[in-house]
Amino acid sequence: MTRVWYVKPEHPDPAVLAEAASILRRGGLVAFPTETVYGLGADATSSRAVQGIFRAKGRPPDNPLIVHFADAGDLPSLSAAARRLAASFWPGPLTLVIPRVPALAPEVSCGLDTLAVRVPDHPVARELIRRAGVPLAAPSANRSGRPSPTTGEHVLADLEGLIDGLLDAGPTRVGLESTVLDLTVDPPAVLRPGGLSLEDLQRVLPGAHVAGPTAGPARSPGIRHRHYAPRARVVPVEGAASGARATLKAMVIRLRGEGLRVGALVTAELAGADLKADVVRAMGSRADLAAVAAGLYAGLRAVDEAGVDVILVESDFPAAGLGRAIQDRLARAADLVPGPPPGSGIQ
Ligand code: AMP
Ligand code: MG
Repeated sequence: MTRVWYVKPEHPDPAVLAEAASILRRGGLVAFPTETVYGLGADATSSRAVQGIFRAKGRPPDNPLIVHFADAGDLPSLSAAARRLAASFWPGPLTLVIPRVPALAPEVSCGLDTLAVRVPDHPVARELIRRAGVPLAAPSANRSGRPSPTTGEHVLADLEGLIDGLLDAGPTRVGLESTVLDLTVDPPAVLRPGGLSLEDLQRVLPGAHVAGPTAGPARSPGIRHRHYAPRARVVPVEGAASGARATLKAMVIRLRGEGLRVGALVTAELAGADLKADVVRAMGSRADLAAVAAGLYAGLRAVDEAGVDVILVESDFPAAGLGRAIQDRLARAADLVPGPPPGSGIQ
């Protein structure tokens, strides 16, 4: 059975946090809010607890987990670059890949000699970790392959009955996962664009760059699995913002002519247009990429739940700032990201 506690994001009830923390100390699984998406937490020092995460999520055994700490000071010795980044961006949506730490369960690293760590920027997350007294391994709290959860309802839709508890503090602020930066390579490489933009990162670490398509899968195994996908087929629709209305409408009419139920997930600017789709949902204004990011996963889930066959998603966002992460997630939801080359030994 899954216990659900509703808590205030800024002032969570201490008695509730104490109970959730004690479940975690006993090896249980508790989902909790972070500023990015909801995480599924387990004691990162316990192999049995961490194995529970893989079971509940149906997560491929070669996709390593991010370990969450309450404070940067709780981490083992960090390199000078890591300390500089931590001072600038923690708590916040930046995950650092560093050399592995022996005190943690080996399952968090899935056989790699590296470890991903982060300090989340959410009072519920940090207070829960503090009270648990151990770092928490916490991937996104969704069934593997599905869009990450940005509300408590999303968590329950995927994991009710499979986890021990959920701390529900309402919708998450960022709505996309953290930026993953590998500090064990030179120059440091972004393995996954996310809530912290490359531009902000480069202000502190000018050498940081986005890993090429071949570096990604080898360094960060989870990146090659299909991700962030609803059940319906996702089709990103390109076309300059001004032309998108006509392009979308033509596609809707063609697909409906084939007998398909069609959903459209678009920016606020297009949501009012007469697109002829069975379901239309807005993700936020095109002028405000943070709003689009915050509304993307909730929009994918909502249109999917309306029982459509195809979801057309307005997709030509600028390849800068949060636009990079939005583009990346849409390409993965649509399964447009190429896998590793055949015969590479990676599958
Ligand atoms: P999630 O927590 O579900 O958002 O997924 C965690 C992401 O971090 C995945 O893309 C993992 O592949 C990546 N990751 C976790 N640990 C490592 C690591 N040691 N090296 C590289 N990537 C990692
Ligand atoms: Mg995930």
